Amino acid sequence: SDHGAKAHFVLVPLMAQGHTIPMLDIARLLAGSGAAVTFVTTPLNFARIKSLADSVAKSRLPIHFLPLRFPCAECGLPDGSENIDVLPSRYCLASFLHACTMLREPLANHLRRNFPAPPTCIISDTGHPWTGDVAREFGIPRLTFLGFGAFASLVRYVLYRFKIFENVADENEPVSVPFLPHRFEMTKAKSPGNFGGPGMEKFREVALAEERRADGIVVNTFDDLEASYIDAYGQITEKKIWTLGPLSLCNRDVGETVARGSASNVDVSHCLRWLDSKKHGSVVYVSFGSLARTMPGQLIQVGLGLEASERPFVWVIKAGDRFAEVEEWLKAEGFEERVKDRGLIINGWAPQVAILSHPAVGGFMTHCGWNSTLEGVVAGLPMITWPHFAEQFLNEKLIVESLKIGVPVGVQQMTHWGVDDTQVFIKKDVVETALSKLMDEGKEGEERRRRAREHGEKAKRAMEEGGSSYENTKLLIQEIQAKNMHANGKL
Ligand code: UDP
Repeated sequence: SDHGAKAHFVLVPLMAQGHTIPMLDIARLLAGSGAAVTFVTTPLNFARIKSLADSVAKSRLPIHFLPLRFPCAECGLPDGSENIDVLPSRYCLASFLHACTMLREPLANHLRRNFPAPPTCIISDTGHPWTGDVAREFGIPRLTFLGFGAFASLVRYVLYRFKIFENVADENEPVSVPFLPHRFEMTKAKSPGNFGGPGMEKFREVALAEERRADGIVVNTFDDLEASYIDAYGQITEKKIWTLGPLSLCNRDVGETVARGSASNVDVSHCLRWLDSKKHGSVVYVSFGSLARTMPGQLIQVGLGLEASERPFVWVIKAGDRFAEVEEWLKAEGFEERVKDRGLIINGWAPQVAILSHPAVGGFMTHCGWNSTLEGVVAGLPMITWPHFAEQFLNEKLIVESLKIGVPVGVQQMTHWGVDDTQVFIKKDVVETALSKLMDEGKEGEERRRRAREHGEKAKRAMEEGGSSYENTKLLIQEIQAKNMHANGKL
């Protein structure tokens, strides 16, 4: 029957904003193409995306949100540790990932009880290797999703799979990474594995082993942006790579006013009106994503650099960075007052995609998280790259060397995530120099802007009818559907 033939995808995101947001986009993409979706979440994460879930309900998209209780206490985590962005430090990451594995039985039970037939396919974060067991139990395919772009995914895969740094003693010794389309060297200190604290090595092995058993890999990128890396990644993994992005482009209809990942702490129309009053391409947007922590001393240097630049800016200072010294400096020491005519400071969570797409914004100072990177690409913006940890140094390489739309601020070492870590110190003059280089109206700046605009146009084409990502989504559903009917026929 028709009913039996409708594909049912189970989506399991890693509970971190940078992984959950694109998975929500995938959910809407699939549901919009006629598939049913079960979206696994937890009570606190569900509360964060409440407004989004409401708009999904209103639009009658067939997405069912499934909040499963998260076993914090059992895993020695403080109450409420349901998202990586609220973990007290990176040393808890292994416990957090272990807690995730305990969602396995509740999820399998739910699927057994509530559906007469097994789902059609699981798409789950690479950080949830346990979902491979669920897929095998139901005899269905599992696609992995990492949230990185193709270049970073490829490098990460090669580094882990071939243990590139195993016998490297010096953290700062550049080591050549094989199997890439071009020569590429990196140090252990800046590698994505150098992150996350104890217990992570073992976890990475398990995740890699499961990834190698997966039936395909979903990547938030588009063919025109990373063609050679997508090819190389497919070859080395011997997997089908499904490029479906930029995912931030697929939900225009629900409106960017519905914040991505959680409710915005600022009125979106206020931001847009503020931007309306500024000259075309004159504003710099500054945000370091959801996980990176900026110590007060460093944060103040960013602010002083912005002030010295004499340019208009929107600066997001997230809740976790608002230490008492910062509040004091912003208010009592008068920073806010001094920049009030040209600086919009957002306290907490910003409507980032809406801001980036406003014509007054002309540059993006970013921590190079992959979602932010791609959102900057979509908006056709040149970027100041300020990587902190994980795969962000790889994204910086892509932005600066391959896409040629970046001005590196010059970070030399990984800034570990967690308030207990010391911050790499970039002084205000360096911030100011990077800003004037980025916004420069001379030939170099113009060329950079032109390339950025071109990437932005290609990004949009990929998601339009006939574009590579648009077609890939259709093909993915068709292929999974065909597999499903084939499997049912055999029963
Ligand atoms: N984001 C947002 N408002 C904020 C901060 C972040 O909407 O104030 C969104 C941003 O648009 C992106 C995601 O959160 O989609 C952050 O993901 P990214 O990969 O850039 O960085 P991470 O937070 O994982 O380091």
